[in-house]
Order: sequence, then structure tokens, then C-alpha cells
Amino acid sequence: MRVTFPRMGNSHIPLRALFESAGVEVVLPPPSSRRTVALGARHSPEFACFPLKLNIGNFIEAAESGADTMVMAGGIGPCRFGYYAQVEREILADMGFDLEMVVLEPPCTGWVGLASRIRKITGGCGVTGLLRAARLAWVKCGAVDEIESVSRKARPVERSRGAVTRAMEEALALLDDAGTVTAARKALAAGCEMIWSATGFPVDDPEPIRVGIVGEIFMVLDGFSNMDVERRLGEMGVEVHRFLSMGEWVRSNLLPKSFMPHEAREMVALASPYLNYFVGGHGVESVGGVRVYARLGFDGVVQIMPFTCMPEIVAQSVLKNVSRDHSIPVLTLSLDEHTAEAGLQTRLEAFVDLLKRRRVMKAAGRTEEGVTPL
Ligand code: SF4
Repeated sequence: MRVTFPRMGNSHIPLRALFESAGVEVVLPPPSSRRTVALGARHSPEFACFPLKLNIGNFIEAAESGADTMVMAGGIGPCRFGYYAQVEREILADMGFDLEMVVLEPPCTGWVGLASRIRKITGGCGVTGLLRAARLAWVKCGAVDEIESVSRKARPVERSRGAVTRAMEEALALLDDAGTVTAARKALAAGCEMIWSATGFPVDDPEPIRVGIVGEIFMVLDGFSNMDVERRLGEMGVEVHRFLSMGEWVRSNLLPKSFMPHEAREMVALASPYLNYFVGGHGVESVGGVRVYARLGFDGVVQIMPFTCMPEIVAQSVLKNVSRDHSIPVLTLSLDEHTAEAGLQTRLEAFVDLLKRRRVMKAAGRTEEGVTPL
């Protein structure tokens, strides 16, 4: 069995560790590229969400490299994610690929089904081996989140543009190579050190503009899909923060409720009274997240979503009110395969200029009259 799974940011690092430690051969799709997008867009329904198109592109490229089994997450709820695995299987079968699809439905639909599907992939690996593999994957998952978080803090103070991003990539490669929990922890420590040293003599800006990120999880975590919004903002001297991460998702969706991070609970609670019901994906968290960032004194929020994403469209429609009531500007980026890099860069630069101007006006004790949230 040669297993593959879609690319989503750096999630391939813990996922590869999980499967390989359990004795499963992994065929990783090449990093997403314009070819991946072209393949996915050509073979997917026009109005499918951008993540589905990228998944299709990833699976085609993995199949070309010899993968024979696709692993895909399932889902429940009002958005389209729940049937995407089936749609992907049909598209690839129609194209003539002989690939088996294993769908890992969320545990709330039944632990027995989930366990039997995991056993199907991991075959002869015993329970002890599986637990060891899960532990290594969990440590690597936390380490990826930490390396990304440190990079977001270090980027606005780097002296040489791009140095932190290069150090982050080296740190992630080091982590990917680590074969044991001890080695992964050492790689994390060394990686964080490398990232901070890459800043050189940090630029002296004690209070950089701070921007929070909310939105659809695939687009938020996947730098290729969102055209590196975090890096672009960081290189404009902005400190970027996000609550969404792989670790947060696992805690909120795969583990018992008591493991759910405090921030995730707060985001859901604070979405009320603007949005009181589950709309799929992270729509509710996007609304609550803006209120959390307003409370924490952030200068602004960027909402990232794929074009036509239903949960985020619902969130976007109420975010205008949240933005006005809490006096925090929100920029919505709706992205797909047609998005042009220059347009995105211009919008981000305009947003950061607006946030800087608000800072200056606040410091001068002037009202915000005339400064309209986007
Ligand atoms: S959350 Fe949005 S992008 Fe993701 S499957 Fe649902 S509708 Fe599509």
C-alpha cells in the first residue's frame, strides 16, 4: 500500500510521521504549484471550493509518483466538505486512476468506523506501535505550530527581508527529518534558535501593527493557497497572529471536549449574538475571532476564505456589524485559482496603511471620523 494525502500547509510533517512510524509507505504529493492548480481546476466542477481543486491536483500528482491509496478526511454539517471525498474519488476514477480512497470520518460519527479505517491503512501495526506513531505525530504537530508562531513574531523585526522565512523552512526540514520524539524536540529547540538568530539585529519597533487571521482552515493554514498572506504582512512589519492551527483543530475535533483550547471556546461563545448557530467550517469561529482580537487590542483582522465558501460568506455578512460595533477593521480576502498576486499585495498594503493611520490618529487623541473600516 502506497498512501498519499492532500497537502495543507505543513501538515504533511506530522501526517508523514504518523504513517511512516506505523510502517506505512507514504508517497507525498510534490509541493503545490501552478501545475497542481491547473490540473485540479481542469478536472473539478467549476464552482467547487478551491481546496477541493487543489486536493484533486495533489492526488493526480501523487498518483503519477506511484501512490495507490488516498487518505482523506470526512466531515459533517451544512457545508460541502462532507461529500468532497466521494466527489474526489469519482473524479479520479473517471480520469482512469486506479486509486483506493479511505475516508476518515470525524469520531463523532462513530469511533468503531474510524478505528476500522485506520486499521485498514496501518495493517499489521499493533496498538503499541500505533500509539508510538501517534505520539511522534502529535509532538511534530505541536512543533510545526510553534515554529510557525515564532516566525510570525520574528518576521516583522528581521533586518534582512526573507531571512526568517528561510530559517523557518530550514527548521521545518530539520523537524521533518527527526525520527524520534527526542529528536523532534531537539529540532524544535534548534529551529526556534535559528529563526531568532536570522532576525540579525532586530529592527527597533517596540509596537508593530498587530493583525489577527481568521477564516476557512485550509486557506488559513496553506501558504500556497493564500499566496503567503502571513509572510507578506510580516515583511511589511506587521505581527501576525492566528488561533487556527493543526494542533487546535486536533484538540477541538478529535479529542474529548475538555481538551478544546480556551481560545476556541471563547471564539464560539463570543460569536453570539451575531451568529448563534453552527454554519459549517469555521464560520462561527471567524465571527467570534474578530471579537477576541478586538478585546486583545489588535489593530485589524484579515479573513481568508475560498471563493464561494458558504460558512465564511455567512461570517463575512455579519462581520461588517462586528467591525463597526468593536471598531476594528476587517479585510476579507476571497481567493481562488483566478486571484492575481499583484491585486492581493495592493489590498494588503492599503489595509496596513489604513491601520497605521488609525494608530497615528488614536495617539493624537483624534476621533476615527473619516476612517472607514474596509
Ligand atoms: S468550509 Fe468552505 S471551503 Fe471548506 S468545504 Fe466547506 S464550503 Fe468548501
